[in-house]
Amino acid sequence: MRVFSLESVIEEFETLTKDAGHVQRETLRKILEQNGDAEYLQNLGLGGRTDPESFKACVPLVTHEDLEPYIRRIVEGEVTSPILTGKPITSISLSSGTTQGKPKFLPFNEELVQSTMQIYRTSFAFRNREYPIGNGKALQFIYSSKQFKTNGGLTATTATTNVYRSEQFKCTMEDIQSQCCSPDEVIFSPDFHQSLYCHLLCGLIYSAEVQFISSTFAHSIVHAFRMFELVWEDLCSDIRHGVLSSRITVPSIRAAVCKLLSPNPTLADSIYKKCVGLSSWYGVIPELWPNAKYVYGIMTGSMEPYLKKLRHYAGSLPLMSADYGSSEGWIAANVNPGLPPEFATFAVLPNIGYFEFIPLERPEGQELENSNSVHYIESEPVGLTEVEVGKEYETVLTTFAGLYRYRLGDVVKVAGFHNSTPELQFICRRSLLLSINIDKNTERDLQLAVEEASKLLAAEKLEIVDFTSHVDLSTDPGHYVIFWELSSDASEEVLSSCCNCLDLAFVDAGYASSRKVRAIGPLELRVLRKGTFQKILDHYLGLGAAVSQFKTPRFVGPSNSNVLQILCRNVSESYFSTAYGC
Ligand code: AMP
Repeated sequence: MRVFSLESVIEEFETLTKDAGHVQRETLRKILEQNGDAEYLQNLGLGGRTDPESFKACVPLVTHEDLEPYIRRIVEGEVTSPILTGKPITSISLSSGTTQGKPKFLPFNEELVQSTMQIYRTSFAFRNREYPIGNGKALQFIYSSKQFKTNGGLTATTATTNVYRSEQFKCTMEDIQSQCCSPDEVIFSPDFHQSLYCHLLCGLIYSAEVQFISSTFAHSIVHAFRMFELVWEDLCSDIRHGVLSSRITVPSIRAAVCKLLSPNPTLADSIYKKCVGLSSWYGVIPELWPNAKYVYGIMTGSMEPYLKKLRHYAGSLPLMSADYGSSEGWIAANVNPGLPPEFATFAVLPNIGYFEFIPLERPEGQELENSNSVHYIESEPVGLTEVEVGKEYETVLTTFAGLYRYRLGDVVKVAGFHNSTPELQFICRRSLLLSINIDKNTERDLQLAVEEASKLLAAEKLEIVDFTSHVDLSTDPGHYVIFWELSSDASEEVLSSCCNCLDLAFVDAGYASSRKVRAIGPLELRVLRKGTFQKILDHYLGLGAAVSQFKTPRFVGPSNSNVLQILCRNVSESYFSTAYGC
């Protein structure tokens, strides 16, 4: 019989973080010992040394591109000896890689499952201390993705699917009182739309028991409730008659969900009444799930644009941002669940990997600039306990599933310390999205610009369903293109002022000066037909992406021609900025 105690999880975390520096040295030693036989390490001349100084001197910082030749050999099954890790790689994870349009391959092994569970338990223990939930279930919008066998015989699927499939996942979900309302057949369904419908249906069947609503990324919750607005009457009818909608055609899902369904006119009436009583679906979550205590999922970084809509659906319920991690490995847990998502921080777990941070400094004169589009000055990476409060860094990760020093490409800011481990705020992805000449704009800059322009829509009671961008170099000079899908039609007048507002909202000095001298053409706002982003999501699902890990690509380059085509074919109108008089 396993005994799980929240106090002991908190205690363990407090102990681990007391002397995070020491734990880090020990963790690096273990990683290097476990992986000492790997070919990658053999070639670097470490000669069995396991101290951070030798590690840093011998092992280079890498990006995914540097690792591709090694990963390709693992995927192809060319060799049987350890290449990147000592312990066997049990499967391959496909990370989102949404910007490039093709998923990245990464090694996955049991160690990653362990660290995922540690992160889940830790943040749950802190969350439950402040917002205790009762025994019950969780309405979780989680989805597995397709899987296939590589030539080398390894299963390849998304990291989240690898986690959901693990034995450990179910045990941990029981421990942390987060059992999903839906049966496994719904999570592991081959059809995302049918899964989503059934998640909603199962959530309603168990509505009295649901303690919280969650998904990996906030986008999936918003997406689920947009769908709910369209299908709620069908859901009520299924519950009333105890007959599953004919839209569910996958036999395994039908069989599993039918078992849960029996005619329940009382529940159907109550849901129906609550839905018609709502105004624009405000507060639908607490209305239909009266025992839910909060809404949980990653809400930071590229998920921030969905917060407004999520707050609308969540009404009075608190939103809690989930942990910080990646397919490459986990990094940090949210141990301050009371902070609103905009201020969420993540405390690094010093035993799940070896962490370094590349200091990123803004050049003189740009320290206070509100834009993220600065060209950072980098210096030598520092250790976990050497970071300074208020400063920004790029995260570097070395895990048990890969002993390389992996640059994650994320900018984080140190908000404070929990004992001796830093609490990080996620700032943005580092890579530039929009750049034509001297202009530099990141995903965050785009997000800020869209947020600014969307204020003009609020007065009209319109909202942006989703957005992305592109650089059009077919005109001379080239110009930025912003794609918007709106909740309903907007007038020409409003849209042309939004377009001007967007153009001016890119405050990067390189952009503004290029616009003034006409080295960059007027920004173009292209309005998309309804449902375009659904088509894009479907396109990525077809490629093997998982909804659970889906992040809308905020930039679509020329190499991503399929998505670009979907966008361009669905433009209903387009506006050019007149903000700079040209
Ligand atoms: P993937 O490789 O698909 O697993 O995505 C990993 C990336 O998602 C990270 O490198 C971050 O950029 C982003 N991410 C993960 N967790 C968070 C978080 N809590 N807040 C913001 N972004 C996150």
